[in-house]
Amino acid sequence: MKLVTFYSGRGINIVKGENQYVWDDKGNKYLDLHAGHGVAFLGHNNKTIVRYLEKQMSEIMTLTTAFNTPIREEMLKELDKVKTGNLDNVFLLNSGSEAVELAMKSARKITGRKKFIAFKNSFHGRTSGSLSVTWTKRYREPFEPLLGPVDFLDFNNIDELKKIDENTAAIIVEPVQGEGGVIPAKEDFMKALKEVSQDKGALLIVDEVQSGFGRTGRVWAHQHFGIVPDIMTAGKAIGGGFPVSAVFMPDWIAEKLGEGDHGTTYGGNPMAAAAVTAATKVLVEENVAEQAKEKGEIFMRMLKDSLGDFKSVREIRGLGLMIGIDLRLNPAHAIKVLQDSKILSLKAGLTVIRFLSPYMITQEDMEMVVNAARKGISETESKAVTS
Ligand SMILES: *Cc1c(COP(=O)(O)O)cnc(C)c1O
Repeated sequence: MKLVTFYSGRGINIVKGENQYVWDDKGNKYLDLHAGHGVAFLGHNNKTIVRYLEKQMSEIMTLTTAFNTPIREEMLKELDKVKTGNLDNVFLLNSGSEAVELAMKSARKITGRKKFIAFKNSFHGRTSGSLSVTWTKRYREPFEPLLGPVDFLDFNNIDELKKIDENTAAIIVEPVQGEGGVIPAKEDFMKALKEVSQDKGALLIVDEVQSGFGRTGRVWAHQHFGIVPDIMTAGKAIGGGFPVSAVFMPDWIAEKLGEGDHGTTYGGNPMAAAAVTAATKVLVEENVAEQAKEKGEIFMRMLKDSLGDFKSVREIRGLGLMIGIDLRLNPAHAIKVLQDSKILSLKAGLTVIRFLSPYMITQEDMEMVVNAARKGISETESKAVTS
């Protein structure tokens, strides 16, 4: 049997992880700023999370939400500590795309409308619904017709919001665009989105699958902007490595959804509930968001001081520990040099080197990254000159 993968191989065989590091089968240690697309934000093999999972695994692994079980009660109590606004209800699923699907379905059910507004450079997932609101044409076009109508507007452009009309079921937005290039939203823009969604009777879906759970320096990235979404999706980091996603909503929306509107075989299973419980404990008890804020500021300053003068560096941007170096050239070679220097990173958009660090990254780790990035970017520049 051969494995089907839609990613180009990195050429290394990873055998274990511990906190911000992973090791390959030859014993090489890597600083992991790829972190499984940001999933390992709380560190690989996090002791609290592993302990919760091991205990749950020995009791019961699978149980649909039609039956009660104590770990889900414990999870709900933990999640109260990271609640945003009036989003008092949570539904668990297994992947970010699935969470976006439910958010979109809910918006249609509640408003009785069809249309979605999304933004250029957005990424919301790969299933047909979530793909419909994902900007990258190359991902979308082979599979059309998808869900529609969808209008893609300029991100961070308040003028564009005039185009939103009363046929709109929902506006979906990432508070920091991740896959599209690590582009933080502007506060005015997010406030305007909230206003226009209320004016037009459309729901505001904030997709925090990548930005959420402490990474940007607040538990939820939209909290930087002083708004509360109507629906929030979360995923990636919330299970500390275990696959789980969530949709959060206020009472008035939850009350309008009923039996048959959605369902899931695995969603809310006891293992996922244990993972979310433990991950939330770590997030709260270790002040992870605050640490991400402080470390992100230091890392950003170091990167700007050391790399800001390169001709090929267009911008270094981000929020907290969600950081991108936008190049005027293809970032592939720099990412390769980083990997050869034992640092794993990933691409975003067409030109961005993306760092999705676990929160326990140290200053020493950051220095290593800065030096390797200097090497990678200067080699990229000299290649561009000679080719
Ligand atoms: C990764 C991501 C998704 C999709 O999550 P999957 O778990 O891969 O389905 C959706 N939205 C955002 C913002 C993401 O970063």
